Amino acid sequence: MPAVLVGGSVRAHNVSALVARTGAREVHLRAQVASGRGHLETDESLVRETVLAVAESPRASRPAVVAVDIGGTSAKGALVDTDGHVLRSARVATGGSGAETVTRIAGLLTDLIAGARESGRSVVGAGVVSPGLIDSATGTVRYASTLGWTDLPLAQLLSEAIGLPVAVAHDVRAAGAAELAYGAAAGSRNVVFAAIGTGVAAAISSDGRTLEGAIAGAGELGHIPVVPGGELCACGQRGCLEVYFSGAGLARRYAAATDGVRGESPDAAGVIARVGGDPIAARVWSEGLDALAAGLTTLTLLVDPEVIVLGGGVAQAGEALLGPLRERVSAGLTWREAPRLETAALGTHAGRIGAAMLAFAAAGRSEVTRSWSVPVILTDPASAVTDTHG
Ligand SMILES: [Zn+2]
Repeated sequence: MPAVLVGGSVRAHNVSALVARTGAREVHLRAQVASGRGHLETDESLVRETVLAVAESPRASRPAVVAVDIGGTSAKGALVDTDGHVLRSARVATGGSGAETVTRIAGLLTDLIAGARESGRSVVGAGVVSPGLIDSATGTVRYASTLGWTDLPLAQLLSEAIGLPVAVAHDVRAAGAAELAYGAAAGSRNVVFAAIGTGVAAAISSDGRTLEGAIAGAGELGHIPVVPGGELCACGQRGCLEVYFSGAGLARRYAAATDGVRGESPDAAGVIARVGGDPIAARVWSEGLDALAAGLTTLTLLVDPEVIVLGGGVAQAGEALLGPLRERVSAGLTWREAPRLETAALGTHAGRIGAAMLAFAAAGRSEVTRSWSVPVILTDPASAVTDTHG
């Protein structure tokens, strides 16, 4: 990456011009003068002039970050400016070996940083969100089964690759933080955000702080055992919530119950669409709702949330999900009121928005995210999406 070397009696406006012309993001001071104390020191007026010059440079005054949302099949990257506006986006495939995936994500970051320079932006940091057990303090992925990562220092590896600060966090916790800041939970300090997609995971915010836990495993709502001795889960336990209620769980249980009868295997949305006229779909859905309600009732008794926000693909069922779920959760709580149940406001953008918030925080610029407006941060120019690494 271009850097400006400053030495001798350089003028501030010359440094500024060099920074603007090269797109440099670093200025190295090489000028030293002999001090009266018998050693070399960098001249203070030179430091002052250089800092001024960089601050006044048009490129340096337009910072941006890169936000990356890693999934089991692809990682989506976005270049995001200080208004939360997506300037460009790109994606790469994940899967294959764990090392390959790290290399591809580093490539995604590098490409978006190069693109930023073309549009006169200066990337100041990156935020990366991933599934798995994520230690956000060190940016280490303790374990992510779908990505083949164990004790991987992801933040350090990516930071070394791009020469910028990189923050790494859990995808659902980051999405929950975005819903808490701008979405359905805005203004609340005690919130459960449950992401119901292929699997189920939750982010628990208690008194405004998101719980991470001793092994970074807080919020594994999908693996709460809700049916003692029930059906086997991929995790090795029996009767886990996500066996009964998740995108994969609903589709699998419907297919198992209709084997050889219907001769087709709809996805979760297809199962939900059949609920009105197909008794098997209605039973699978109802048993799933019982399982989800049992998990949310347990969570309510443990952490006392003001609102439970449901996100992820299955939550797009909206009132068809919320109505019967409210009844069940209320019925399960005899002596206290149930928390509010809402669907997520930021949809599939929540992970990217959470990653961009992290990136600005990593760059020491989190104040810019406080004035973001929802219509702006939800805009993702699909026309700018490019597949750079297949
Ligand atoms: Zn499980």
